[in-house]
Amino acid sequence: MKRQNERFLQQDYEVIVVGGGMAGLCAALQSAREGVKTALIHARPVLGGNASSEVRVHISGADHSLVQPDYAESGILYELMLENKARNDNFSYSTWDLVLFEAVKKQENLTVYFNTVMYDCETEGNKITAILCVQETTEMRYRFKAPIFVDCTGNGTLGYYAGAEYRQGSESKAETNEMHAPEQSNNERMGNTIFFKARDMGHPVKFTPPYFAKKYTEEDLKYRMHCATHKVDYSTCIDPEKNEKTGGVSSRGIGYGHFWIELMGDKDDIITDYENIRDDLVASLYGVWDHIKNGGDHGAENYALEWVGMLPGTRESRRLVGDYLLSETDILSNRNFDDAVCYGGWCVDLHTAHGLLDLHRHPSGDCYYFDGIYTIPYTSYYSKNIENLFMAGRNISATKLGMCSTRIIGCCAIGGQAVGVAVALCKKYNCNPRELNSHVQELQQILLKHDGFLPNVKNTDSLDLARKAEFFASSYIENCEPNKVIDGYSRKLGDDMHAWVSNGISSSGESLTMKWDESKTITELRYTFHSDFSYPIRVTMSPPRQKQQRIGVPLELVKDYDVIFKNKGEVVKTIEVTNNHQRHNVLKFEPITCDSVELLVKSTNGANEVTVFEVRAY
Ligand SMILES: Cc1cc2nc3c(=O)[nH]c(=O)nc-3n(C[C@H](O)[C@H](O)[C@H](O)COP(=O)(O)OP(=O)(O)OC[C@H]3O[C@@H](n4cnc5c(N)ncnc54)[C@H](O)[C@@H]3O)c2cc1C
Repeated sequence: MKRQNERFLQQDYEVIVVGGGMAGLCAALQSAREGVKTALIHARPVLGGNASSEVRVHISGADHSLVQPDYAESGILYELMLENKARNDNFSYSTWDLVLFEAVKKQENLTVYFNTVMYDCETEGNKITAILCVQETTEMRYRFKAPIFVDCTGNGTLGYYAGAEYRQGSESKAETNEMHAPEQSNNERMGNTIFFKARDMGHPVKFTPPYFAKKYTEEDLKYRMHCATHKVDYSTCIDPEKNEKTGGVSSRGIGYGHFWIELMGDKDDIITDYENIRDDLVASLYGVWDHIKNGGDHGAENYALEWVGMLPGTRESRRLVGDYLLSETDILSNRNFDDAVCYGGWCVDLHTAHGLLDLHRHPSGDCYYFDGIYTIPYTSYYSKNIENLFMAGRNISATKLGMCSTRIIGCCAIGGQAVGVAVALCKKYNCNPRELNSHVQELQQILLKHDGFLPNVKNTDSLDLARKAEFFASSYIENCEPNKVIDGYSRKLGDDMHAWVSNGISSSGESLTMKWDESKTITELRYTFHSDFSYPIRVTMSPPRQKQQRIGVPLELVKDYDVIFKNKGEVVKTIEVTNNHQRHNVLKFEPITCDSVELLVKSTNGANEVTVFEVRAY
């Protein structure tokens, strides 16, 4: 009989990103935006990895759940979240999936292969030459070739196949000298989790457990909050009448499932044990639910399970080793690297390794807090021994304790965006990731241009013509003068708004005018508007976290505006923008020669003043 294997294709790209979690998505979008022909190979039908509708982890970041809102992640991640906020006040995960799907579909230079699993790679010496993939829906097999690859699989799978150096489990204190490292290295890992969503049906609902459900008693779950009535002080709930913060205590409830339905398995390798762990998690989840519903009064009589995730999210597996291994010491000391390309601010969040098998310990184990943020150097984002391999996401080069903070999705996403820029610079300089080290300042500047943030790095872009202009405004308040839009920082930091803020909004609008001594020819403007990071906008299943959000897009965002270009007093062009809901607005146009550009803001999304952090012109 003839063997059928005709459906085989070879495809060439300039970069191949494997894994479409938030890290891979941001890496792929950014490299494509930089003009690099990019493929994103993604095993699942929806994007976002753990943040997708399949797992439903909500996105946290360096703001540490609003404790330090100045440090919220911006860039592509924030753009996607704002897009979602504009369409999705009902916290629908399907709409979030759609926002991510639309973002890749409309992105030039980017091809996404959904339902496509990379199962092997080919190497020559220390280089990856191709990856081998299968797309299950079409029976297609692919060989994808590229000069550069990015491993965003979470598990470091591409690096593993290619023979990249990697680590798993904890380093010993003797090796890393980290404050909280164990005396002996070990292979304990934070576990995988599945979530559920439960709904109050308004009438009693029965629950019949499956035969394999585990049994839990009240004593078993004494360290694990599981009552519908448990109260938590989130203290920033929104008053629905005023659409602003009131403070107050909210019920954590049982609507969001429990992060502590968590297991690491009993084999040495959490990856090879994944399917067994899933079975145990399903048995545990239904066992916990059986206890909530049938094991005493938990205030859950009217609750029914609406959704149960069947794809466990992974917290910890392999970490690929780069030229630098970020440590807990770097994190707790707020280390600022000269070659920083990313930052984080989440605590060193170490869950109890055995999860539900260690009921005598609190599930979130140990959390080591610090104030402020730390940075992550460029050298943590490429493999030490595979010369054309970048990595982004939770598999970057960090110690176990380092990863306990860097795994947070905000950090994974902005690291991915940084790698997207690095990929483009590797193309520009025809070099490999390590050779790009001498161009990291350029990388930092490009990141800032795309609404990135790095502490202590200012806009010094010599191509930015706004930096050579004088700014004038219809009105302003003290310390927020018009020239603040070129002070190099594009967000509020501490007491300094680093912004032009108008004194109210007059009926004819408020204007900010950029003027040069002589005419300039420009093709691009970038405006960064205020969106108030102290109000969260993420999609989340958590009822109290939902209550922290205002309805609608951030009020502070500029909504309708005109951009009026003049040369020697004559209007040469006007661009009208309506219904804006983005913080970072990029306007590209045919070359215009002008000596002034006026931003005339006609309305905001609700605020009574106009706030502009930054203006750039190219
Ligand atoms: C239950 C749980 C709760 C958490 N809580 C929070 C929280 O509240 N806030 C927070 O910010 N973070 C939280 N985290 C951490 C966070 O979810 C992860 O660290 C983060 O999602 C990692 O992002 P990533 O892009 O690196 O990987 P992932 O999100 O894991 O995405 C990787 C993607 O790559 C794909 N992939 C893998 N292998 C292949 C292959 N061979 N071929 C093709 N595609 C492949 C996978 O299908 C996956 O979609 C939590 C994690 C878990 C598990």
